[in-house]
Amino acid sequence: METIVVDGLALAQEIRKELSEAVGRHVAAGRRAPHLAVVRVGDDPASASYIKGKRRACESIGIESTETHLPEATTPAELDAMLAELNGTRHVDGILVQLPLPRQLDAKRIALAIDPAKDVDGLHPINAGRLLQGTAALVACTPLGIMEILRRYDVPLEGADAVVIGRSDIVGKPVAVLLQQANATVTQCHSRTRDLREHCRRADVIVAAVGVPKLVQRDWVKPGAAVIDVGVSVVDGVLTGDVDTDGVSGIARLVTPHRRGVGPMTITMLLRNTLLAYEQRTRA
Ligand code: NAP
Repeated sequence: METIVVDGLALAQEIRKELSEAVGRHVAAGRRAPHLAVVRVGDDPASASYIKGKRRACESIGIESTETHLPEATTPAELDAMLAELNGTRHVDGILVQLPLPRQLDAKRIALAIDPAKDVDGLHPINAGRLLQGTAALVACTPLGIMEILRRYDVPLEGADAVVIGRSDIVGKPVAVLLQQANATVTQCHSRTRDLREHCRRADVIVAAVGVPKLVQRDWVKPGAAVIDVGVSVVDGVLTGDVDTDGVSGIARLVTPHRRGVGPMTITMLLRNTLLAYEQRTRA
């Protein structure tokens, strides 16, 4: 079987074009542009580079963005105050606090401090709860990107057996809910799962969101399965995913590469969420 290697970058560009046209229509109608506020705490170099990529992506489709850079020693109360200010700023539609955070700051507390209407990462408990009930507007970006890949590459989900490896709030749990809402039968696996390989071998769709290099091997994959590789690890200075991509080639129906796969789609869904938040806030 010839394995389709997903071109996440091309897909992302196609969607960004649609988003750019939508932003253009708002501005042409005399409305202000959508606005994303990004908060960085500390000096993690990877965070600085991720934020640069996100802001560049915003700019490319006409979304305005600003970055607030707080010192490493920022206290929870100081960050709360900054977020309260952004919550109250009318022209700010989306707020994103870049992870990872310094040790004294708790991601769950931060999610609570962001106005759910501006929560473009979909991490506020109100948005997470709405997702469970099938009424969510703002859903975490990586799961949205994964669903968009499956949809645009015509992977059938109705009645399919899907295995999600990982159960984080930001990837594993929400993608499992979305797959179930698309009528897949979902098995959620994690570090305590017994015989992970056997679960995977039965799956029509595997989503690996772990962070263990090349965890999913050739003999874990059923012929014709779609394999989505979310994980990002660095091995000897080289970016590596959770899937042995070369190994599953010829077995899987479709695989996402660890570069130009899920990553560009995650940023694109951030843009889409920012536009959605803007449209809901301005009722445009
Ligand atoms: P996380 O919070 O660390 O969660 C990892 C999950 O994997 C946990 O649920 C953990 O189980 C499970 N796990 C760990 N070792 C395992 C093993 N040997 N077998 C089975 N399950 C195992 O990570 P995350 O935020 O969800 O991210 C997952 C990966 O995706 C990371 O590599 C991250 O860098 C990457 N990522 C990529 C993108 C992108 O756009 N490409 C976006 C987000 C994240 P327990 O719950 O039992 O501990």
